[in-house]
Amino acid sequence: MYNAKAYSAAGATSPLSSTSIARRDPTEHDVQIEILFCGVCHSDLHQVRNEWSGVMPTVYPCVPGHEIVGRVTRVGSAVTKFRAGDLAAVGCMVDSDGTCPECKAGLEQFCPNLTLTYNFPDKHTGKVTYGGYSDSIVVDQRFVLRVPSNLDLAGTAPLLCAGITTYSPMRHWGVSKGKKVGVVGLGGLGHMAVKFAHALGAHVVVFSTSPSKKDDALRLGADEVVISRDAGEMSKHAGSFDFILDAVSADHDINAYIGLLRRDGNLTLVGAPEKPLALSAFGLIMGRRSLSGSIIGGIAETQEMLDFCGQHKITSDVEVIPIQKVNEAYDRLLKSDVKYRFSIDMASLKSE
Ligand code: NAP
Ligand code: ZN
Repeated sequence: MYNAKAYSAAGATSPLSSTSIARRDPTEHDVQIEILFCGVCHSDLHQVRNEWSGVMPTVYPCVPGHEIVGRVTRVGSAVTKFRAGDLAAVGCMVDSDGTCPECKAGLEQFCPNLTLTYNFPDKHTGKVTYGGYSDSIVVDQRFVLRVPSNLDLAGTAPLLCAGITTYSPMRHWGVSKGKKVGVVGLGGLGHMAVKFAHALGAHVVVFSTSPSKKDDALRLGADEVVISRDAGEMSKHAGSFDFILDAVSADHDINAYIGLLRRDGNLTLVGAPEKPLALSAFGLIMGRRSLSGSIIGGIAETQEMLDFCGQHKITSDVEVIPIQKVNEAYDRLLKSDVKYRFSIDMASLKSE
């Protein structure tokens, strides 16, 4: 074991602050990574503040962060995929059983024995896993991704969660040229969804509560922007969408969006608000429409997404912050005031 620097929360109402955590020394299959950038996902905030207490209660101290990019410092004797000095990335998962039907299908995110990057039982330490708000991490090579060499690293980190979470359902539901696609909520996930839907050739409509984001939405690749509080603007799109991705972090009316789907259209929820959403049956039954959910994506698909980003020069639009500004960043997330992802420059942790 060795000590790593990190930022952790001591409780649901405590700010994040500097700490030291024990990490395992790399075993034969492990890769040790010096973390250069870590994105700030709204899930970090939900988890730190124990907003998902019914589903995955938070164990404190909690070190969040699952959008990790860095440089390999050490590898175990059986590691073939990476060498010291390579760029590497880690997302929301760090282990799975590798033998169940989900793992065999490349869908590790549904493995019953999945280990998430933070706040999950850690078989190596007997505690819980600690995430990327840290100067280093040790991960089994199966869960370490290759980073395209042409991408900006601060903007690459958010691809590991916001990127794959929006790419995967779009591939699953066949987003392509000729499809009309809606994106609800222009935050970290939403802005990546716009970039991917545009790159896949769809006609993209952004639904936002923030009129100030309209120009950005168009610049990011949207063809149209609807301010969702304007019922007249919303009704112009009734019954017209093939697919809508809902990436909203708080309570909102999903029935308004289900009504915008065409026959057999699908609305996929990726946002994970604290409280249950109200659903009217009529919106679904009147057009054989479907409502579904999606969580991140498998490791092979995450690598496919990163390679796609390398080919299309896609990264996240980031505001780079030092770790000392992370509590302020959380407050701004709650005000929908992020353009469009905070990416922590982990060099700032050295001064702690
Ligand atoms: P974010 O950057 O904070 O963006 C959320 C956006 O939702 C805001 O920018 C805002 O967009 C909109 N919004 C916020 N409050 C709203 C309200 N009361 N009514 C309507 N719209 C509202 O968050 P994120 O990091 O993209 O994450 C979004 C959600 O996805 C979170 O719940 C997160 O936990 C979840 N998530 C799920 C997965 C998964 O695998 N399924 C992965 C990562 C994250 P506008 O200003 O445009 O309205
Ligand atoms: Zn996330």
